[in-house]
Amino acid sequence: MSTYWNTRTKNLSPYVPGEQPRDRRFIKLNTNENPYPPSPKVIEAVQKAADERLRLYPDPECTEFREAAAARYSVKPEQVFAGNGSDEILAFAFGAFFESGAEAYPVLFPDITYSFYPVYANLWNIPYSAIPLCEDFSVKTDHYKIPSGGAVFPNPNAPTGIPVPLADILSLAGYLGAVNKALVVDEAYITFGSVIDGGQSAVPNINDHPNLLTVHTLSKSASLAGLRFGFAIGNEKLIEGLRHVRDSFNSYTVDRLALAGAAAAVKDFSYYDEIKRRVVATRERTAESLRSLGFNVLPSAANFLFIKAPNVSGRDLSAALRENGFLVRHFNKERIADYLRVSMGTNEEMDAFLKACGEITGRA
Ligand SMILES: *Cc1c(COP(=O)(O)O)cnc(C)c1O
Repeated sequence: MSTYWNTRTKNLSPYVPGEQPRDRRFIKLNTNENPYPPSPKVIEAVQKAADERLRLYPDPECTEFREAAAARYSVKPEQVFAGNGSDEILAFAFGAFFESGAEAYPVLFPDITYSFYPVYANLWNIPYSAIPLCEDFSVKTDHYKIPSGGAVFPNPNAPTGIPVPLADILSLAGYLGAVNKALVVDEAYITFGSVIDGGQSAVPNINDHPNLLTVHTLSKSASLAGLRFGFAIGNEKLIEGLRHVRDSFNSYTVDRLALAGAAAAVKDFSYYDEIKRRVVATRERTAESLRSLGFNVLPSAANFLFIKAPNVSGRDLSAALRENGFLVRHFNKERIADYLRVSMGTNEEMDAFLKACGEITGRA
């Protein structure tokens, strides 16, 4: 705090990201990064772009990426927005679609969800209301059918991993559309879901719902958290709204190297389908092993599990895992204080993790 800070800055309570240790002593299962490397085609594209053209500004239209994403998702390039990580796009979406000021209806999101949402709401002075998850930690979209300034949630939800049925999302989009409010669905983990576990993207439905914005990231599914690239898919007018906010802030949020890498990533589905398959297989196997150790494991359609030990508090388990060389995420928050969010590592890493869990809980 400083006397030079204005009132707005003094009133901010920023998001605290998961720890990024500077040394490699830890097995990192705390920020949902992908354990597999990015596609070799991405590395090649980034290296190729690293030349004297860096003296030029990047393409503010992000044309190459938007055309590649449009082809990949069967939408129009005008329905795609690119940004510096999906966090930036979420920040723009709050600014573009949710009304500010004390008289405005509150924007709705779950009480247990991605903790950046209240931060953005505060930053933009948008009133919000946190809707409690059900007893089983699921999101019930009917609870969002009340007067509001719009709604936002991840599908699957974080940190629970539980998907929201697509039919429910579309029903809510219809409800909010009828009162001219936006629904933002943060699909950060949607590629790890499937019809089988219930995690399905709303992208194919954007043409039926002009108020429905889907937000995506290359950080998790494309192993590119270090590149900082996200994108949104939705109606042309929503995309234009995002650009309106972006261009009131910084026209070049995505650099040349990121654009080159991102375009290569969305084109290489065969590589990414394979690593997704591996992550999902590891998730299913890890969930089963943890359940046989007596853990409660929520059903996940993401690349992480939300778990509760049979006999150790969340805080103690997190500390003991750290002692054993594993970083996981603990949220010191009512209802979930005894849970840990564990990102899926490689099979070898998860075997070591399961062994540590067995030893710590005395169930090995
Ligand atoms: C990781 C995450 C993001 C942010 O992704 P970036 O593209 O790395 O900014 C957004 N939403 C949720 C729910 C996430 O877990």
